[in-house]
Formats: sequence, C-alpha cells, structure tokens
Amino acid sequence: MSADPDCIFCKIVAGVIPSRKVFEDDQLLAFHDIHPWAPVHVLIIPRQHIATLSDVQPQHQALLGHMLGLAPRLMKELGVHNGFRTVINTGPDGGQEVYHLHMHVMGGPRPWSKG
Ligand code: 5GP
Ligand code: ZN
Repeated sequence: MSADPDCIFCKIVAGVIPSRKVFEDDQLLAFHDIHPWAPVHVLIIPRQHIATLSDVQPQHQALLGHMLGLAPRLMKELGVHNGFRTVINTGPDGGQEVYHLHMHVMGGPRPWSKG
C-alpha cells in the first residue's frame, strides 16, 4: 500500500502521529479533527496515499463508496441524530490543506464555530 513519507495523514495511518481514532479497517481510518468546526468533526481517510479527489482512479470507486457509507454510521455511533455535513476540499481553490484525500464529517447542535 502506497504511503508518502512527508504526508501528515500517512503518518497518522502509520501511528507515528497520534490521533483520536473512531474507526479503522483494512481500507479506511477515521479520527477526530484536531481543530473541530462543529461539536462532532471527524475525518475519514483511505489508508493508502491518494493526494486529492482529482487523483481518484476507476479502481477506487469501491473505496469512495465505503468512505461515504461510513459517514452516517459514524455519526450515529457518535450520537449525532439531527443531520450532518460531508465535505471534501480539493486542490488550492477548493481550500485543501492536507494533500491526502479526506472527507470531513461534521455534526452536532448549532451554532458551529465555522460553516
Ligand atoms: P483540508 O483543509 O485539507 O480539507 O482539511 C485538513 C484538516 O485536517 C483540517 O480541518 C485540520 O484541522 C486537520 N488536521 C491537520 N493536521 C491534523 C493532525 O495532525 N491531526 C488531526 N487530527 N487533524 C489534523
Ligand atoms: Zn498520505
């Protein structure tokens, strides 16, 4: 499985940088965002290094489906029962800061600090 030695999320996958994990399997990892915008704010990432949504290939379709399908399951487990937001920032104009594909999943009672 590919990893980028300079990538912060690859380091989280490898356990070199700690994270507050909420889910992991052979393909995905999910953990709390270090600077949450909402009462519950987790990131779902693939274990393999894919830089952006624009780098996704046809063979990643099942992986993307798995990421999306995990979101409602995690929100339920984390006590979010009144809706949530899913966001994938892509590239410079998309506001992406970490170049390892990730989906933000945010929920919990409003107001939120952002968004
Ligand atoms: P982006 O702007 O790339 O979509 O979002 C990157 C997100 O990763 C930001 O919300 C930021 O707070 C989060 N983040 C950056 N570094 C770390 C880290 O080391 N640990 C965790 N848990 N989140 C991080
Ligand atoms: Zn990476």
